[in-house]
Amino acid sequence: MTLFIPVILGLVAGYFVNYVSDVLPFTRRFSQPSCPSCSTPFSWKEYLLLRACRSCGHKRSVRTYLVLLVMLVATVYLWIYPPIRIGFLLAYLLLVYLGVVFVIDLEHRLIMHPVSITGAILGLGIGTYAHGLVPTLLGGAFGFGSMLLLYYLGEVFTRFMSKRRGELVDEVALGFGDVNLCGVTGLLLGWPVILAGILFTIFAGGIGSILVIAFMLIRKRYNAFTPIPYAPFLVFSILFYLFR
Ligand SMILES: [Zn+2]
Repeated sequence: MTLFIPVILGLVAGYFVNYVSDVLPFTRRFSQPSCPSCSTPFSWKEYLLLRACRSCGHKRSVRTYLVLLVMLVATVYLWIYPPIRIGFLLAYLLLVYLGVVFVIDLEHRLIMHPVSITGAILGLGIGTYAHGLVPTLLGGAFGFGSMLLLYYLGEVFTRFMSKRRGELVDEVALGFGDVNLCGVTGLLLGWPVILAGILFTIFAGGIGSILVIAFMLIRKRYNAFTPIPYAPFLVFSILFYLFR
């Protein structure tokens, strides 16, 4: 009986993360959800009941079910063991936000500006609540600045490589969305914890890239310009430092 509230909240979180991930990368606004295969709009009833598309029979993605499950379990966990630093409510809001960032970045390699701005507002509020205004601002500046430096180094590297190969390269080693997200991470973790967060992200991102490159070498489809997936590791470092 006492778990009724977190179960409902968990389902709400799961539906919200799925909905935002289904529409925002495509229409850039909170639009009516539609079938990813044939673009037939879903009615809200069909969408909420997780029905297959009535026009082409396209089933709902595995991600839809995974997100619902993870959000449900995570919300119930946070309800039973609320994090010491930020409590249940702020942790719940942050969980929903990180869910959106994680899913959209994984599916589209994209961190949109409205998502970054929402993160900055959340980060400023939650960071100040957890460790005061000055460490929050210092952490944010350090997170943003250090990733900005990596971003420019990546750009210089990409330009150097494309000149040497005599071809034009569109991809960048690091997207600007990662820079914004690292700023948000800095606000949330505060100074000096952001130092550990960045070290963890670079280290884990490096191992992640080695695994991706090894996988590509095995499949014989190596591409030196494959971007390093930093966002999931930034999300993990936030979970690790704030959710306990
Ligand atoms: Zn369809």
